Amino acid sequence: MRTTSYLLVVAATLSLAACGGGDSDAEKSAADAAADAAETAGDAAAAAGEAAGEAADAAADMAARAKDAMAVDAAADDGDPCTLSISAGDNISYDKKSLSVPSSCTSVTVTLTHTGKLPVAAMGHNWVLVPTDAVEAVAMAGMNAGVAGDYLPADDERIVAATELIGGGESSSTTFSLSDLQDGTSYTYVCTFPGHWSIMRGSFTVGG
Ligand code: ZN
Repeated sequence: MRTTSYLLVVAATLSLAACGGGDSDAEKSAADAAADAAETAGDAAAAAGEAAGEAADAAADMAARAKDAMAVDAAADDGDPCTLSISAGDNISYDKKSLSVPSSCTSVTVTLTHTGKLPVAAMGHNWVLVPTDAVEAVAMAGMNAGVAGDYLPADDERIVAATELIGGGESSSTTFSLSDLQDGTSYTYVCTFPGHWSIMRGSFTVGG
């Protein structure tokens, strides 16, 4: 209440001062100057507000990017050792020539990401885990399945795990149990797209 009363008194005093002046031109120019100043201040405030808004947007964007980067790192590195990621682009190769998991994993999830742009029919990739000595046989048996059948033979017991066949920009995951692997057997992951299996492959091992 006391503040409000004080402001009223100040306003009244200012009004009296403004009305009391005899020189109307000086009064007018003072009023114009005040109006200009108010307008300038308003513009500055608007600009400052806009700048602050943009800065906030930029900060939010950076925070989001940092979060994404951390999520990718966590998935790729030290997050869950039983969760693996691997990628392939518009060439016939995976980004990793081998994958390994600890024997303590009860189940393993592998996510394949196609970082290229070509469609699945031209440069399809999958991630198929089979005993190393069955790679060629499984790939050959899958030829007739076509894209729709992921270039995989149906119900083939040699296939431990397989993602879908994917094209550029897509990803697919597969989850399997380490109990599906046999001790003393070498395992290889391979892409069964025609022509890829002979070079697009890597070793899969279970650590101690
Ligand atoms: Zn491939």
